[in-house]
Amino acid sequence: MSFSNDVKNELTRLEDIKPCCQKAELFGLLKLSGAVSLTGSGIGIKFSTENAALARHALHLLKDNFNVQTEVIVTRSRRLKKNNKYQVQVIPNKEVRVALQDLKLLEPVMEGKKHLLGKQCCRKAFLRGAFLAGGSVSKPVSDYHLELVTESEDIALLLQKNMQGFSLPAKITDRKRDYVVYLKEGDAITDFLSVIGAHHALLEFENIRVVKEMRNNVNRRVNCETANLGKIVQAAVRQLNAIKYIDEVSGISKLSEPLREAARLRQEYPESSVQELAQLAQDQPSKSGFNHRLRRLEYIATKLGMEEENV
Ligand SMILES: [Zn+2]
Repeated sequence: MSFSNDVKNELTRLEDIKPCCQKAELFGLLKLSGAVSLTGSGIGIKFSTENAALARHALHLLKDNFNVQTEVIVTRSRRLKKNNKYQVQVIPNKEVRVALQDLKLLEPVMEGKKHLLGKQCCRKAFLRGAFLAGGSVSKPVSDYHLELVTESEDIALLLQKNMQGFSLPAKITDRKRDYVVYLKEGDAITDFLSVIGAHHALLEFENIRVVKEMRNNVNRRVNCETANLGKIVQAAVRQLNAIKYIDEVSGISKLSEPLREAARLRQEYPESSVQELAQLAQDQPSKSGFNHRLRRLEYIATKLGMEEENV
């Protein structure tokens, strides 16, 4: 099962949700995946999902808060691996009007905000409902990504504003006909899971994330050390070639004392760092001073006719 579904299943099992928050959650649920249906018998409400637990949850929220009659229609998929679809329907009757009125489903989004999202607890519940209906989050083994998808630009902006109210750096992009409100940072996703009350999922997310980041850090360090080691070895090989060339062409003895000593030390200690060699030299030059002598040897070898590619 996907991580998104783990999160959703956890959210549908939350208990002791305050009545104010239940309505705010319904508002989020229905604004993202619901529809108002108009038939010969009147106005109804529809909500569809592929998650059975979520269908049950929506049904309970509707029935606990409004005196409505509901039914669930299951569309079984004929294709293997495709999920069944559950459609929760509120059967048209005069109670539906109360629900529509209370949840501000026929009015502009800002009306819903004004009446249902005044309290912080309710703003959290709204985000929970929105995630249940239109959200997904990837496991942190791949990239960090959490998104809420809606067809309405107004809803997208409201979600973004709400998330920003919880210091979540939400951005909006469009995808075909949809607006996608998303988070791209591990910390922000953890915070979002905390805001909507998915505490088990949050822990799972953090556990995977810690392991992933530890592995990345180790890889980075190993790469870095290998790269440095590579450079040191390359430089030493270059210096040894240069010294050998000078010796063959004109003889090491022709060099000045400091250069002769540098050449001898490098040949005696081919694996030592420049720092270590500098400490062995008679006059104890600085690391960069000793490095200058080694570079000088390479320079002289080139001047004596050593091919650049052999250097
Ligand atoms: Zn509340």
